Amino acid sequence: MTSFWKIETNGRVEVSRAEVEPISDTMRWRRTLQASVAFAIASLVSILIPIAHFLLTPGFALAALVVFFKRSREGYRLDLAAETCRVCGQGFVERQIFAGQGRFKLFCYSCRTEAYLLSPDPTSV
Ligand SMILES: [Zn+2]
Repeated sequence: MTSFWKIETNGRVEVSRAEVEPISDTMRWRRTLQASVAFAIASLVSILIPIAHFLLTPGFALAALVVFFKRSREGYRLDLAAETCRVCGQGFVERQIFAGQGRFKLFCYSCRTEAYLLSPDPTSV
């Protein structure tokens, strides 16, 4: 689904086309379970590590919960393959990012600029 989105970079907002597509529930739950199960396994394995397990086990268990709730709400995929940074013109390192409805956070590793891709602007379509 190509649509017009607002891109905010350093407080400046422009309208741009972006390839944003909703992902299927199957893919969303697969991503959610992959990440949260990996942290849950790391939590269980870290029980075996003396002394450090006091921090690692609850830390990984908490990370599993955080990742579960974060990823279960990421229903949209943004294809960054053809996108370039609005500040330096370089391509993005990440080829695709996932986010919930309405707000993608982009980060350019070349010029260390954060940008936000905001919900489609109905006046520009
Ligand atoms: Zn840049």
